[in-house]
Amino acid sequence: MNTAHAYFEGKIVPMDEAKISIASHALNYGTAAFGGLRGYWNEKQEKLFVFRPLDHYRRLLNSSKMLCMELPHTPESLTQITIDLLKADNWRQDVYIRPLVYKADAGIGVRLHDLRDEVSIFALPFGAYGKNEDGAHVTVSSWRRIDDNVIPARGKISGAYANSALIKTDAIRSGFDEALVLDNNGHISEGTAMNVFIVRDGVLVTPPVTDNILEGITRRTVLELAREELGIPVVERSIDRTEAYICDEMFLTGTAAQVTVVTKVDHRSVGSGQPGEITLKLRQLFDDVVHGKVEKYARWNVAV
Ligand code: PMP
Repeated sequence: MNTAHAYFEGKIVPMDEAKISIASHALNYGTAAFGGLRGYWNEKQEKLFVFRPLDHYRRLLNSSKMLCMELPHTPESLTQITIDLLKADNWRQDVYIRPLVYKADAGIGVRLHDLRDEVSIFALPFGAYGKNEDGAHVTVSSWRRIDDNVIPARGKISGAYANSALIKTDAIRSGFDEALVLDNNGHISEGTAMNVFIVRDGVLVTPPVTDNILEGITRRTVLELAREELGIPVVERSIDRTEAYICDEMFLTGTAAQVTVVTKVDHRSVGSGQPGEITLKLRQLFDDVVHGKVEKYARWNVAV
């Protein structure tokens, strides 16, 4: 039997002992930042592999810096804690790992300074997220993406996810699977929890990190695989809304979403309406890499 543990206030404790006050700063003001990693169970080797933990924790510590946090951690120390936690849980299946850095003091007063900062981590069993096989139908949201000068999207800041939640719920309630959101310049930034790629005339295009996106680890992985393994031209540039309506292929990337094929945008078929060739190749390659089947990229998989 698996028992779920959490890393909480410096120790690994049973999950139900990891509790915070309703007066916590992070809960009241959204002054926290989070990460999301996956652990992939390898049946053959009977081992759990965490995908690119150092990169995930580098990004989390960057988020903590934006929130003026002083944490006694490095990407290496957080990776080690994650491994210890997963060992305590003894998972033998795919898991999702959720680290959180947060302003832990209880009390009233909006600010970032003079507050206690904490780290928590927990993991839970996790399979597919949303529609992966047949292709998703996405809409262009009427909401706008938060701007870098409002709440930085590159920060993965908890409070900012109210923006993603507004976008996601309106999309789902209108019958779509997911939404693309425009930034204040009118360019497509990303989905609610995933980056976006399109293919036009054989070129793979994704918005640059300066277009109010989260700097996705899956995005970075797919860019490298596309360049190195498929040898296809890759461009990071702004994407207009109407390019989403006329592109040949589209897919979304994220730790949870992995490589999710998009086959329809606002009732218009993407390309032929079937998953595209480049998308399918990248999806397969990504799947092989995260499952530790590609020796060249084994350095990204950290064994528990
Ligand atoms: N954009 C947003 C807004 C997200 O929340 C996520 C999920 N972390 C992503 C993109 C994808 O990032 P990653 O590939 O690092 O999971």
